[in-house]
Amino acid sequence: MSLFASRIASLGTENAFSVGVDIAKVAARGVDVIRLNIGEPDCDSAPHINEAAIEQIRAGNSHYTDPQGILPLRTAICNQIKRTRGLDVTPDRVIVTTGGKPGIGFTIQSYVNPGDEVIYPSPGFPIYESWITYAGGTAVPLPLHEETGFTFTPDDLKRLITPKTRVIFLCSPSNPTGGVLSKAELAGIARVIVEHAPADVRVYSDEIYEDCIFDGEQHHSIAVEPGMQSKTIIASGHSKGFAMTGWRLGYVVLPTAEEASVFKQLTINTVSCVPPFIQEAGRVALESPESQPYITRMVSAFQDRRDWVVKALNAIPGVRCQNPKGAFYVFPNVAGVCQQLGILDAYAKLPEERRHRTSPSSMLQMFLLYRYGVATMDRNSFGKIGAEGQHFLRLSIATSLERLKEGVERIRRASTDTEGFAAFLREEKMYG
Ligand code: PMP
Repeated sequence: MSLFASRIASLGTENAFSVGVDIAKVAARGVDVIRLNIGEPDCDSAPHINEAAIEQIRAGNSHYTDPQGILPLRTAICNQIKRTRGLDVTPDRVIVTTGGKPGIGFTIQSYVNPGDEVIYPSPGFPIYESWITYAGGTAVPLPLHEETGFTFTPDDLKRLITPKTRVIFLCSPSNPTGGVLSKAELAGIARVIVEHAPADVRVYSDEIYEDCIFDGEQHHSIAVEPGMQSKTIIASGHSKGFAMTGWRLGYVVLPTAEEASVFKQLTINTVSCVPPFIQEAGRVALESPESQPYITRMVSAFQDRRDWVVKALNAIPGVRCQNPKGAFYVFPNVAGVCQQLGILDAYAKLPEERRHRTSPSSMLQMFLLYRYGVATMDRNSFGKIGAEGQHFLRLSIATSLERLKEGVERIRRASTDTEGFAAFLREEKMYG
């Protein structure tokens, strides 16, 4: 008998965290690793938000709260949804969570039985696929097309919808591609959902990068499209826009109060509540006039880096990089580099069991880390199912321009180092 329950084998992970072991190994060799792997702003949370939390702790706000979230924060979230999306929502439909992730697992646990189908973007945030397989759902990846800035058409979605479709994940702006769905695209997608999906389908609209949009464009939510408010779960949080990743604060707006109470019950069963001083500071983040200039400055820095990095990557033979419209990632196609370094051949020669556990872009990722000290993420870290033959890396641009320049320079040098790659295979013995 195995120590672990069988479902544990179906649980995925977020490699942006788990690659930390390899980074630590390389750093221990004395290498100054450029970390382009993790998705978090490189600035700290703003002073006015920090002060709010400190004051609350000093005032003794150190007890359990309503598991659904304190009313002043849920009210602030409703006001934010009204201001940014024009939607009227009530606090009984809001649930405050420990970061942006819990809403994903709560959604799968609340709506998906084994065998039910769940559609999700691929490449996409890996936690969608992880929870689907863990729950015994049928994972239905929705391929994003590189040529159109990693979007999909309403017809692409329509082809995947069946009577067994329970949940559809959308993510705009997208991790890992930086793609942003326009208002017109969302309208077309919404029409297909209203006309073809089962009446009780739920659309999990992951809008956690809502503040990170470039070129003066605006964020749009599918929830405002006709017929969609009653089907859409709006998910967002403080991690990205307010640079509060370590605070663990997020929220979900459910179509009904009844559904919010199921999410509340899941919170009671797991973390009880989000710490009260964190919630108070989260309210200040949403309500204070000091927040917007802070966000604007941060996003403008991301945009400057985006402008530099896309050009620099496209200047490397074998790399093709789209221009992201939001979030803080670039997702270059590195098929040419995999070809010229001999990675595709080396991968084809691996024993089958090894091939299952890696991919050409993962081999490139490890080569870049172990031999050039630059940490990136491989394509398979963003949904494995159906990803064969796709060769991409994700680079986070939430790092200083100086470090980013050094990282790209290392990638440029690595991209022609055929001998170095052969030596890496021989000496690191990762694939032997
Ligand atoms: N959704 C997406 C698309 C994300 O990229 C992330 C974080 N990388 C999350 C959700 C989870 O956010 P948090 O760190 O607040 O749990």
